[in-house]
Amino acid sequence: MSPSSAPIKTRIFWTWDHSTTWVLNQPGEHNCGCSNEYGRSAETFLEDYSRLVRWCGAHGVDGVVVWGLLRDIHGGADSVHRLCEVAREHDVLLLAGAGLNAYGGVYYAGDSPWSLDRHLQAHPELMALNAEGDPHIIGATHPYLPTERPMLHACPSREENREFAMESLRWLFETFDLGGVQVETGDSRVCHCTRCRERRQYPVKHFSWEDMALMYPLAADAVRTVNRDALLITETYSHPEPSPDPNKVPGFGGALPPWGPACLAEFPENVIVEWVADDWLAGGKYTWTREGVPPAGPRRHIMRAHFASLFMEPLDNLAIDRIADLAARSASHGFDAISIFGERSPFNANAELNYLAFADCGSAANPSSDLSSFLDRLAAPLLGGPALAREYVGIARLIDRPMEAETGVHRARQIAATMESAVARRWTWLANYVASHAYEAAE
Ligand SMILES: [Zn+2]
Repeated sequence: MSPSSAPIKTRIFWTWDHSTTWVLNQPGEHNCGCSNEYGRSAETFLEDYSRLVRWCGAHGVDGVVVWGLLRDIHGGADSVHRLCEVAREHDVLLLAGAGLNAYGGVYYAGDSPWSLDRHLQAHPELMALNAEGDPHIIGATHPYLPTERPMLHACPSREENREFAMESLRWLFETFDLGGVQVETGDSRVCHCTRCRERRQYPVKHFSWEDMALMYPLAADAVRTVNRDALLITETYSHPEPSPDPNKVPGFGGALPPWGPACLAEFPENVIVEWVADDWLAGGKYTWTREGVPPAGPRRHIMRAHFASLFMEPLDNLAIDRIADLAARSASHGFDAISIFGERSPFNANAELNYLAFADCGSAANPSSDLSSFLDRLAAPLLGGPALAREYVGIARLIDRPMEAETGVHRARQIAATMESAVARRWTWLANYVASHAYEAAE
């Protein structure tokens, strides 16, 4: 954690294993999605995350969440033991992403008793049901996230499934020296069986606040019986701004419905509650007002955004201004933690700048998340000076203005030619990145 004088005390990178590509020029990478198959080698998986962890340790990022952490194909338990060692060595928290009713459970893919898929395949009567009464399985036909792996869902009303989730978490922390876990109940629609419909008081769409209130206390108990110090992050898929329409059920990243606070009051104590910032920052669809603070209680809060990922915008988009906004507005709305994606190699110069801004904004060195200060202190030495750092930002933004892009590409090439080593590499990368968007726009 950062010093107490820093408004932002905890920073967490969020990743899927299949899209984490810190080793360059390897086959089998994905550039987006969740629940994909893993296409890289076990050796590359270890090196991808070892590099990411080392970077975090060197730059003040506190932890990394890994979805798909346990898969047979990238070394299963052996790889996780080794990554735990690397994380401890560099004083970084390695967190497993663990779906409780979805996302594969604790053992994401493989021949393990702690695979949720295996559990449900052995007990199909415990699967969640869709609105039509059929087993709720999403796969290649999913409307907005075509996945290569079908995803099975567990009915949270079934005691057997709750016990399975708790036993899985106990095993996870008995087996691995992890720093913590991010738990989710699932945002890919909920169970519509009779038990669930009778249990829930409130309407649902893609996820259920009541399912969270049901599952997260159990998850916390399970983890803490084994490891009292583990960091627990509990996902809400929501923003804390009160919903203006109490009859509307918000979707992913939407507002806090009227029943949210009562459900959140049931969350376990001393966790970090995770929220979604995407559409609530400058230029976003919604307005984050002074009312948009998390409900009071014995919990911390972390604000996460999908910046620079294909979930919401061009891959490797320069997001330093919005990262500064994320840190500043989170700090002024009751948050002391922030999270962004950490999947891309900092060879991609925009990703490198995004990561450095993430580490700097809200820190003791930059408590007001001042972008100009970041550019002067951290970006300027990497780009040839304060003026060139600002010129870099201007050229990076030309991906949205293809008619002007060629001028920017030409200028970036000129600057690269006058620079040496890593500074030249960053300008060369920028020239090619903007050129790739101009090329696409012309096709
Ligand atoms: Zn159910």
